[in-house]
Amino acid sequence: MSAVAVIGSGVGGLATAVRAAAAGRDVTVFEAAPEVGGKLRQLHLGDYRFDLGPSLFTWPELLTETLARAGEKAAPFSYGKLDRSCHYFWPDGTRFTAWSDRERLSEEIERAFGMDPAPALEHLDRSAEGFEATRGLFLEQSLHEGSSWKPSKALAHLGRAWRGRRALPLTRQLNRWNARTGHPKLQQLFNRYATYNGSDPYRAPAMLHVIPHLEFGMGTFAPDGGMHAIVEALHHTALNLGVSFELNSPVERILTSGGQVTGVESGGRQHTADIVVSGADVTPTYRRLLPDQPAPERILSAESSTSGVIFYWGVRHPAPDLHLHNILWAEDYPAEFHALFEAGTIADDPTVYINIGSRTSPSDAPEGAGNWFVMVNAPAGWETAGLEDLRRRVQAKIHRMTGIDVAACTECEHVLTPDDIASRTGSHLGALYGPASNKPTSAFLRHRNRDRRLRGLYFVGGSVHPGGGIPLCLLGARITSELMDQHDPQ
Ligand SMILES: Cc1cc2nc3c(=O)[nH]c(=O)nc-3n(C[C@H](O)[C@H](O)[C@H](O)COP(=O)(O)OP(=O)(O)OC[C@H]3O[C@@H](n4cnc5c(N)ncnc54)[C@H](O)[C@@H]3O)c2cc1C
Repeated sequence: MSAVAVIGSGVGGLATAVRAAAAGRDVTVFEAAPEVGGKLRQLHLGDYRFDLGPSLFTWPELLTETLARAGEKAAPFSYGKLDRSCHYFWPDGTRFTAWSDRERLSEEIERAFGMDPAPALEHLDRSAEGFEATRGLFLEQSLHEGSSWKPSKALAHLGRAWRGRRALPLTRQLNRWNARTGHPKLQQLFNRYATYNGSDPYRAPAMLHVIPHLEFGMGTFAPDGGMHAIVEALHHTALNLGVSFELNSPVERILTSGGQVTGVESGGRQHTADIVVSGADVTPTYRRLLPDQPAPERILSAESSTSGVIFYWGVRHPAPDLHLHNILWAEDYPAEFHALFEAGTIADDPTVYINIGSRTSPSDAPEGAGNWFVMVNAPAGWETAGLEDLRRRVQAKIHRMTGIDVAACTECEHVLTPDDIASRTGSHLGALYGPASNKPTSAFLRHRNRDRRLRGLYFVGGSVHPGGGIPLCLLGARITSELMDQHDPQ
């Protein structure tokens, strides 16, 4: 039985551990932190429970499919589909609910923006076509293996892409492509999807237009028990399959000999393994764990995705106008991205995202109260300064735009900064999604899942192919496991 050492128990590492153990391998997960989950960990503050990282759950089939690999040993996991993805609030008082039902969405576009909804609905159709045309090529396989480009496979992908070509704006830029929605506020709304992988809609390629299909076409979901239920399901399934977990065990070195990995070193002890999967960020993997190996400098120097400052507030207020996901827009959206990517700072008037998990998981807050996750985008590596001032500005914006005096209703608080995210999860510069996707070539510049030089070394997680966010990390685990079966069979 081949022995696999997985570094890190983020969603990518956990899903890879489940798949490898289900395939009959002997798996040990090394986790630096005292708990599993990485960015998806949770926090209890008094009567409130918070998910520390992700709040949006899409493409749930990727998780259920991963769990199903374990057959009867799969831990239970359940979730529900939401009737809307987000409530949007503009500074001029416009409000918009992004309903999941197309008829309702169409009526809402007419009501909120006084326009014919046809261009916006057409835009969504293009997003769906683009997604279907490219998912097999860019998301569901490695881009770096000869086998992905075998004529039969490549021709099938190209055939799909050709059929969906009117939805493939290969040379355009996202903000300009989104002008087709027919209204500046809808253009802004569609631009926001660039932030789903921490990118800048005013520079990112229009190919990112496929992202809205995940929400509008496939739907948004909420796990029963909150986002942490995802970690629990993966962790318990892994345990049921016999995976060993070494917590409080940072890996200090990946051991190699004669061009292949031989194990890992943690706490000064050597652990032998035939396969090492790094679920840690790729930059520290090279810089700290493989200091003697040549590092892929071009990849490691790529521009990082955004980070964030997150306020976790226990708020004693019913907040009837707020749903699970809410966006309070910046007055000047382009200026926000100029601040993030050019000036290296947080905009004076940032867009504020409010997630209230207790809307779908009521036991996470006392009755009549909510567990507010309030986030503003921040540059990766932002040196925390003026947190008090930022808090005041965010509170004032919420008061102004929703009428809720949140400062007066907050019972408890916890804050995470880019620095905290970096130190708690090992994420380079605290970036949420690894490198940004601001260039047409970005997809090709993410690190590969199987190392070319060291036999038995693999990479998963948000900093490598196919990208960050829960769905892509789960896809990365699937790709990596398939590569392991191909190149390092039992
Ligand atoms: C605030 C925030 C909001 C987000 N919102 C969303 C969202 O709404 N939806 C969504 O899909 N995604 C969201 N994301 C992104 C998503 O959380 C990540 O893309 C994903 O969870 C990353 O998983 P990962 O597998 O890369 O591992 P990570 O979660 O990055 O975990 C890596 C793990 O490796 C461990 N580790 C690192 N180095 C070592 C070492 N040397 N030895 C042992 N262990 C090590 C770390 O301790 C950590 O546990 C958000 C992220 C954050 C932070």
